[in-house]
Amino acid sequence: MNIVLLGAPGAGKGTQAALLVEKYGTPHISTGDMLRAAVKEGTELGRKAKTYMDAGELVPDDVIIGLVTERLQNPDTEKGFILDGFPRTSAQAVALDAELSKLERPLDAALLIDVDAEVIVKRLTSRRMCKECGYIGSVADASCPKCGGEMYQRDDDNEATVRNRLDVYQKSTSPLIDYYRGCELLVAIDGDRDPQVVFADVEKALNL
Ligand code: AMP
Repeated sequence: MNIVLLGAPGAGKGTQAALLVEKYGTPHISTGDMLRAAVKEGTELGRKAKTYMDAGELVPDDVIIGLVTERLQNPDTEKGFILDGFPRTSAQAVALDAELSKLERPLDAALLIDVDAEVIVKRLTSRRMCKECGYIGSVADASCPKCGGEMYQRDDDNEATVRNRLDVYQKSTSPLIDYYRGCELLVAIDGDRDPQVVFADVEKALNL
C-alpha cells in the first residue's frame, strides 16, 4: 500500500498509522515524528524546525521535501509506505507526485480522516504522548498503557498553538482534499469515532 494520510492535526492520522503498522508492517513516514526526533537530537534541521513547530507554523517546503525524498529512497519503502503529515501544501503534493513517478511507485489512495475543528481542540489539548514508545494517549493516562513509560504533552498541543495549527491546516493543507479528489485517489472517513471503528473503515476503504 502506497498511501497518504490527510486530515487536520489531531484527526487521528498517527493512531490509524500505528494500527496499520501493527497489522501490516508497512513503513510509517511521519514528518512530524522525524522533525521531533531532529529537535531531540539537537541537529541543524531540528534547530531550524523548532521555531516553526512551537508556533504551529509549517516548516519551509524545501526542507520537508528534501527530508521525505531522502526517506523514500530507503529500500524498505519498496513494499509500501504510509505518509503521515506530508504533503501539507500544494508544492509538497506536486513534489511528491514527481518523486513517486520517478520511483515508479504511484499512490494507491489519499485517506482523509475527517473530524470537526472543535472536537480537535478538545482532543489535542488533552493529548499526551509516551516519551519511550510514542504511544498516543490522553491526560487520563498517568503512565503509558503500552510500555509503562512517562507521558508528556507536546510543546505545540497548547490551545493557542492548536488553533493556529488548525488555521494553517485550513489555509494550506485542506486544498489538497480537492487535489486528490481530482486525481480520483481521495477516500474520506469519519474520524470522530472510536479508533478501532475508524480502523475497520480504513481497512475497508483500502481493500485490505
Ligand atoms: P505533526 O506531528 O504532523 O502535527 O507535525 C508537527 C509540526 O511539524 C507541524 O505543526 C509543523 O510545524 C511541522 N511539520 C510536520 N510535517 C510538516 C510538513 N509536511 N510541512 C511543513 N511542516 C511540517
